Amino acid sequence: MSTPTADLKSALQGDIPRINVRNHLKILGAFTDLIESISKHDGWTREEFFQRSTYRLQLWVEKVINVGDEGQQPLQARELPPLDVAMALHSLMLSPARYFEDSELRFRQLKRMEEYPLAMVVDALGTDNSKYSRLENHPAPEHWRIHTGLQYDAIDSMQNDTTRSVTCPACQEAVLVSWRGDRGFSAADFHHTCPKCRIALTHDVLRAGKFFASLNRAREDPKLCLPNTAILLRGELGVTSRCSNIVNEVWKCFESENGKLTRLEDIAALSATERCSIMEYIAKTLSSPQSILIPENVPLLLRAFEHSYPFTQDIVDALRHQYQFMQIIHDEGWSQSTSKPSDDDLDAAYAEYAEFLQRIAIQGSGDPQWRDDLLWHTHQLMPTQYRVGVVIYIQYFLDHLPRGECTHQNGTQMSCGKGPSCGKPCGSRRFLKAEA
Ligand SMILES: [Zn+2]
Repeated sequence: MSTPTADLKSALQGDIPRINVRNHLKILGAFTDLIESISKHDGWTREEFFQRSTYRLQLWVEKVINVGDEGQQPLQARELPPLDVAMALHSLMLSPARYFEDSELRFRQLKRMEEYPLAMVVDALGTDNSKYSRLENHPAPEHWRIHTGLQYDAIDSMQNDTTRSVTCPACQEAVLVSWRGDRGFSAADFHHTCPKCRIALTHDVLRAGKFFASLNRAREDPKLCLPNTAILLRGELGVTSRCSNIVNEVWKCFESENGKLTRLEDIAALSATERCSIMEYIAKTLSSPQSILIPENVPLLLRAFEHSYPFTQDIVDALRHQYQFMQIIHDEGWSQSTSKPSDDDLDAAYAEYAEFLQRIAIQGSGDPQWRDDLLWHTHQLMPTQYRVGVVIYIQYFLDHLPRGECTHQNGTQMSCGKGPSCGKPCGSRRFLKAEA
């Protein structure tokens, strides 16, 4: 590592404008207030709110900003995401490698944003931090309602939008299911019978459906890969033969005699015979002696299917973690005070971020503290800048290592899945290095 910290700090100050850090702090304050307003309503849970926000982000990406006639135009005013969607979008972008894959391969419309629309969101915020206050005569709410059929405001939507649409992975029927109540979508034991093909829709079935749909798509289109399997080479996505080899090996594990994939219903029946979930059955099959995949890599391969949302990253889980970070920023007074942080405070934060990057470059591991984390996140909200800059500064693409690095459970590599409620300390985080 040749760049002395002072040089790196000034380079970072050039890359990450101070106004971005201040706007980022403002939206973190608004997200905190919005999340906290949920607990004031009887029967509303943060978990359901995070799930709904993730679903609404999906709709925003698929139905609002996916406009063919506008090509690569930047976001328009009418596309201003609802505040909860802005919150989920923030989480989506704070996973640079997976965001990069999604924006290159799955949702190219995300590339319409060169960076997170900080100024757009801040402009719509007024004094009531838990909602947009400056939306009079704004085109976004109407535009959103036309394209999604849902309420624009997050709280109004929690109140009035009682169902969501789920596509049956077996027969492709669009099914409306309720969010709440006994076995509603937000419950872990969600259960709904598909009215057309009668398959039992559960989170397990939806996850498996996402897995087989991704596998089918990647098999048909050699440009695609299974989520999480792209190689980041000097910040560029090298979708090389490695990706299609993985697709072929995974395919072989589930190929039936007619050369097609075994039907989801049949795999569901097989897993029921073996008394395991479909996802467990998939993991077992991929790790079996007949497969040439390395068993230790199977959990990583399946990581994008621990949830059924179409993104590679588990946004609901990211929101849980980021809420903790938002609370720290709030407790330090940085997201709700006009006097904090001072220019000197910010100066110190840039220096800490430069030191953090150098530490990573030298040791290959390390944990950011909250101030350098804030700068690191602000940097990530400018994906192109970040990708190019960080590779120049430390010679590799830097991302959080998969949650699998958490050592909650008996020192095994897989996370216990309980997240913050586990209470045991996480192992020191390590970071993803791109192969150079
Ligand atoms: Zn069905």
